[in-house]
Amino acid sequence: MNRKEVFEQVSDMEEQIGQLYQQLGDLKTHLSELLEENHRLAHENHHLRQRLDQSIEETAGRDEQGKTTEQRTVDNIGEGYDNLARLYEEGFHICNVHFGSPRQNEDCLFCLSFLNKTKD
Ligand SMILES: [Zn+2]
Repeated sequence: MNRKEVFEQVSDMEEQIGQLYQQLGDLKTHLSELLEENHRLAHENHHLRQRLDQSIEETAGRDEQGKTTEQRTVDNIGEGYDNLARLYEEGFHICNVHFGSPRQNEDCLFCLSFLNKTKD
């Protein structure tokens, strides 16, 4: 190996080292971008998890505070009363004595007492 060849080889190595150094710099940039994104996603994930927990709590809370089973039953009874009252208005018995038969434009005491009882 003569001096020229040695010099050329050292030159080549210098160039390769330069390229490697540049690649290393690129990788470092890329790595810091990834770390930043990872940090951002972890942060976002944390927030979304909190929002989800909050939303689950709110939903559960609404069921407890808003429409309890008891209140829903009361609603159903109210609706049932309205239906029976409408049926009576339309001229049918809603009392257990003549239930479903036509009233023939007469008030029925059984029906009326039933309506009042249900209303209270
Ligand atoms: Zn009746």
